[in-house]
Amino acid sequence: MTGFIYTGLPARVVFGDGTLARVADEVDRLDVQRALILTTPAQHALGDAVAALLGARSAGVFSGAVMHTPIEVTTEAVTVLRELGADGVVAIGGGSTIGLGKAIAVRTGVHQLAIPTTYAGSEMTPILGETERGKKTTRRSLDILPETVIYDVELTLGLPTALSGTSGLNAIAHAVEALYAQDANPIIASFAEQGIAALARALPAIAAAPGDRAARHDALYGAWLCAVCLGSVGMALHHKLCHVLGGTFDLPHAETHSVILPHATAYNAPAAPDAMARIARALGADDAPGGLHDLSRAVGAPRSLAALGMPADGLDRAADLAVQTPYPNPRPIERAAIRALLARAFAGDRPS
Ligand code: NAD
Repeated sequence: MTGFIYTGLPARVVFGDGTLARVADEVDRLDVQRALILTTPAQHALGDAVAALLGARSAGVFSGAVMHTPIEVTTEAVTVLRELGADGVVAIGGGSTIGLGKAIAVRTGVHQLAIPTTYAGSEMTPILGETERGKKTTRRSLDILPETVIYDVELTLGLPTALSGTSGLNAIAHAVEALYAQDANPIIASFAEQGIAALARALPAIAAAPGDRAARHDALYGAWLCAVCLGSVGMALHHKLCHVLGGTFDLPHAETHSVILPHATAYNAPAAPDAMARIARALGADDAPGGLHDLSRAVGAPRSLAALGMPADGLDRAADLAVQTPYPNPRPIERAAIRALLARAFAGDRPS
């Protein structure tokens, strides 16, 4: 084994079934007196349920979280936080809601407790993506990382079947790229392989029976492992492409990850044989890109960028943006090959 550097993330994780019931104790543990609860408009009722559990420790519910963490929403939420005299946030929802919690915490220094209800993984990362006038910027700081995360399997039982599949593939993408990251290390590689295996087992079972509690448990556990990968090591081509496509063409987050993942993996396959062997082993497949393609089909994920509403005349622009600034990737980034990758993803071809 060669040497490595591993930095652990200082986050407390409470995992299980029915763990939401511990929210008041966990808020107490953070020494938060009055927490502002954050949700999307669609998950407002869940915010009310948390408020009931917190009793006097709830400052109120702010249900304005939306995709891509726009600065205007954060500004409004910070105003509400101050007006209500809140000294902490509880973000319950997917990556959009957790992103708002991070954006508030990094501006005000309040403690954060995150309760994820998708598999996207933002809760375990010190990374914040924000948009201002349509432009997305990303920053990294330990001040952004939630101090406590409650994973409750119960909360994922109602995650719609389609979003379960694409969100699970979004999680797998973090683990795939962790295996060939420039700063890869054996601890994270072990998390990555276990995370892919747990999700690969669980997602087809969830597609068949969304209320399958054992499969939901596996999926959320896998999502946590993959989230640690995302927070711990640098991502590469796949995340870059999804960032470009989501930011420039407003494509949906989890679905875009699902479509791109087999193709980005195929692109890197010749340059990362060890990672590919581990991914294939975790998937129980003959080869990594083919296995990811088949898993995506098995969970009924969208087949192509075209199906997500990507305009055909945007492919050149996407290729240009993807090669504009250099970033670490196992295989050199070549525009013609990236353009060909995007064309295959656009058409929904099997990766090659
Ligand atoms: P999301 O948070 O936007 O949620 C999508 C929709 O599903 C929302 O309407 C939400 O209310 C609903 N929803 C969530 N959980 C549900 C449940 N259990 N049952 C029913 N409905 C539910 O989607 P996402 O994919 O979780 O997050 C995407 C966003 O998170 C993107 O903006 C992405 O950039 C960001 N993200 C950031 C990081 C990071 O490390 N900074 C990591 C992953 C994702």
